Amino acid sequence: MTRPTAYVHHEVYEGRGFSRLRDPWRRYALARETLAELGFFPDYLRTYRQEPAGDDDLLLVHDQAYIDFVKRMDEAGSGYLDYGDTPAYRGVLRRARLAVGGTLLAARLVANGSVQHAFNPGGGLHHARRDRAGGFCVFNDVAVAVRVLQKEYGVRRIAILDCDGHHGDGTESVFYDEPALTVSLHRYDGRFYPRSGTLEETGRGAGEGYNLNLPLPKAAGDGAFFVALGEAALPRLQAFHPELLFVQAGADGHHGDTLVRLGLSLAAYARLGDAVHSLAHELCAGRLVLVAGGGYKPESVARCWAVFLAAIAGAPPAALGRMRQWREEDQSPSATPEALAQVRGEVAYLRERGALTEPTDGR
Ligand SMILES: [Zn+2]
Ligand SMILES: [Zn+2]
Repeated sequence: MTRPTAYVHHEVYEGRGFSRLRDPWRRYALARETLAELGFFPDYLRTYRQEPAGDDDLLLVHDQAYIDFVKRMDEAGSGYLDYGDTPAYRGVLRRARLAVGGTLLAARLVANGSVQHAFNPGGGLHHARRDRAGGFCVFNDVAVAVRVLQKEYGVRRIAILDCDGHHGDGTESVFYDEPALTVSLHRYDGRFYPRSGTLEETGRGAGEGYNLNLPLPKAAGDGAFFVALGEAALPRLQAFHPELLFVQAGADGHHGDTLVRLGLSLAAYARLGDAVHSLAHELCAGRLVLVAGGGYKPESVARCWAVFLAAIAGAPPAALGRMRQWREEDQSPSATPEALAQVRGEVAYLRERGALTEPTDGR
């Protein structure tokens, strides 16, 4: 059997989180209970506990002034870190440091060869920018981990595939001017949070051609999602040929999630797991760092993470039977022909512009 996948967990995850919504905080405990019941630990998933990230790590991405602001808001113990989404409270700073520390641990375990795949369910805070919080995100854990891998391990070609239902605007902004490949699939209609993530955001300067957005309509469904993934995101990642791949899985695209409503089925998360797992083995010796991101209905989050991880870490045979049953119960609405046509049009447009291949001089 292959080595277990690392599963990063800290008890702080089971307390108050970063969202103003209360229910999602429960998802970490529920997911662990579900995975434990299915027999994933310790042969398929092995638990690791992280340390909080220090200022030195955070400063690789964030401003000192912003870090100081979060410290002051933590001490004040009330209010918001942004305009009403991301609450401040006593302990939010430590919680935010641990979220980053979790992705740092996952990234280091993969980079130093301790494991091939590692998952931090508390990571994926992709709306956080250099100087501000946003959308339930305080510090950008994936961006900090990329910086640490560049600095400590000399990893040069890093790709981030973001399949959360929202655009990874914070992550995009951090790497916009450099040739780190950022790919985001998300709901977009010009109004939906964070109101960015168009086809035209392609990167700038040395980063031109290294940012790829795949906007999806509401209720896109598995059909449209996998056209975007299979015909645009994966070919672009193959052309880039990363040394290490970050994947933000997200669970908020599931049809049961009330915040995004991308209309994805449970089976889509299994298929996504398969796709990124194969890709990591094909391109970068399996080096795969996974974070969760959104997901606001704990019951569907636990199931999405379980089927996603089963595709990557493997699963006990009894668990496979249970998960097959879940997929049969999971009635997702089918995608509209309009959604499919929109995404096919986007792929054709990107192909025509050469956006799915590596930039060459003169483009
Ligand atoms: Zn593997
Ligand atoms: Zn999201």
